[in-house]
Amino acid sequence: MAARADLYRQLASLLSPGSTARFDEPLSRHTTWGVGGPADLYVEPGSESDLLAALRFARLHQIRLRVIGSGSNLLVLDHGFRGIIVCLRHPCFRSIEPARDQLRCGAGAPLAAIVREAARARLGGLEFLEGIPGTVGGALRMNAGAMNRSFFDVLLRVRFMSLDGAVSEIAAAELQAGYRSCPFFETHIALSATLQAAPSPPETIRRLIALYRRRRQAQPAGRSAGCTFKNPGAISAGQLIDELGLKGARVGHAVVSTVHANFILNDGGATARDILALLDRIRSEVRSRRGIQLEPEVQIIGGEPAPAPMP
Ligand SMILES: Cc1cc2nc3c(=O)[nH]c(=O)nc-3n(C[C@H](O)[C@H](O)[C@H](O)COP(=O)(O)OP(=O)(O)OC[C@H]3O[C@@H](n4cnc5c(N)ncnc54)[C@H](O)[C@@H]3O)c2cc1C
Repeated sequence: MAARADLYRQLASLLSPGSTARFDEPLSRHTTWGVGGPADLYVEPGSESDLLAALRFARLHQIRLRVIGSGSNLLVLDHGFRGIIVCLRHPCFRSIEPARDQLRCGAGAPLAAIVREAARARLGGLEFLEGIPGTVGGALRMNAGAMNRSFFDVLLRVRFMSLDGAVSEIAAAELQAGYRSCPFFETHIALSATLQAAPSPPETIRRLIALYRRRRQAQPAGRSAGCTFKNPGAISAGQLIDELGLKGARVGHAVVSTVHANFILNDGGATARDILALLDRIRSEVRSRRGIQLEPEVQIIGGEPAPAPMP
């Protein structure tokens, strides 16, 4: 363990002063659920070259590395993450540049800021992102969306870094994305995305933003990760869970919302273990009583296999 700690210190010393590096950082501070143990090393790179340095270092020493956004779709286990967590929160990864009918957005840009900037530039088509509390990177990995529109509907191209450090750009049409998933970003780090928009009258943009904002009234306040399970087909996961009478079911401080049954709330002091146990209970009841296998939408961090040796 001492050797590992030395390695982390070595990496931290390689980064420029614009970067942030913290040891044993509680990941509960970086997830909307507010649960999760510490990451050995938490890095907010201050530049692409510092991101590259972290990536190369992790590969060389076979250390796990995972990128997170705003942690709004993450369940971090209580024992935390043995490796390096990278968060593209530095301003250099958060730019939003409208140009004619497009916006180029850094991977760390919050979706709410994109909706705001698009409206300021009188560009419409992105209003559906209102109320999704994630970043561009998370929206790419999850193909986030609402009310029958998803991120890939407006995506033109993505700049990304491969795990070997090469930076390239890819057209959206070349990426395979499905319902709440784009597997490409399991192994590639998104750096920025170019989104399609269209000039639109300000009052139309305002009306659509208000419409998407109203959706939030059907969602519970409190700490959650949004929808916990993917919808398994024609019936929504929330409806299934509700029909089985599981609203209000709890394990410790994790509780199924009484407002929206697909939301699990941390009502104060929940652990990842509480949440996982509640997830298991819901899945097994849905499986045994309805014959349906629910798949979590949330990404679980902390149980990853060790990285492969360098070729
Ligand atoms: C109250 C609430 C409401 C929500 N409503 C919706 C909704 O309406 N629709 C919806 O789709 N989702 C919704 N969500 C879920 C969540 O906001 C989305 O999934 C969002 O896209 C996650 O973005 P993030 O930045 O928080 O990603 P994180 O949760 O931090 O990470 C999610 C995944 O993305 C990966 N990732 C993050 N950044 C990068 C990057 N730069 N490159 C590669 N991979 C990356 C992570 O490794 C992880 O696998 C909601 C969540 C909450 C808490």
